[in-house]
This record gives sequence, structure tokens and C-alpha cells, in this order.
Amino acid sequence: MQGNSYLHFCNVIPLPLQNLPAMAHENEIKQNRYKTELCRSFEELNTCKYGKYCKFAHTRLELNHVMQHPNYKTKQCEKYHVHGYCPYGVRCKFIH
Ligand SMILES: [Zn+2]
Ligand SMILES: [Zn+2]
Repeated sequence: MQGNSYLHFCNVIPLPLQNLPAMAHENEIKQNRYKTELCRSFEELNTCKYGKYCKFAHTRLELNHVMQHPNYKTKQCEKYHVHGYCPYGVRCKFIH
């Protein structure tokens, strides 16, 4: 067996993040859009399998907390002003 092949193998295979779904999921939540959008499942079906651990907001109260972010509605919504329509409606984080 060649010594090089082992090193090569190490370089190609990334850290086994796929094997740690819980940790990866948690990091993702913290870095991304945690409760900046209403939960689609909860909004449409009035139920969500993630319950209080869902990364999306289930109530406007949860959402409002995030909406106090300083960047909230500081820019005009491109979609709304170009197309006259924005799929996010009142939930859009840009100015309509
Ligand atoms: Zn949810
Ligand atoms: Zn918009």
C-alpha cells in the first residue's frame, strides 16, 4: 500500500458534517434566518412537526422580535418596485 494514497484520501473527504445532523442543523439555524419568516407549515396547516424548535416563526410575536433588526425595511423592495408585486407582501423585509 502506498503512503500517498492515504493522504490523498484525507484531502478529498471533507469533515464528516453529514454524520452530525444535529450540530449542523443548530449552526445553520444560528447563522441563517432564524425566525425571520413565518413558518409555512404552521401558516397553511396550522401545525408544524418542529413545534417550538422550528426555525421559523409560528406567531407574529416571534416574528416582530426579529423585525426590530436595524436593517429591517431600510431598503426599497426591488420586486415590488420593478414588478409591482412581491410574494412576501407585508412580511417583506424591504420597503413597499
Ligand atoms: Zn414551524
Ligand atoms: Zn417585497
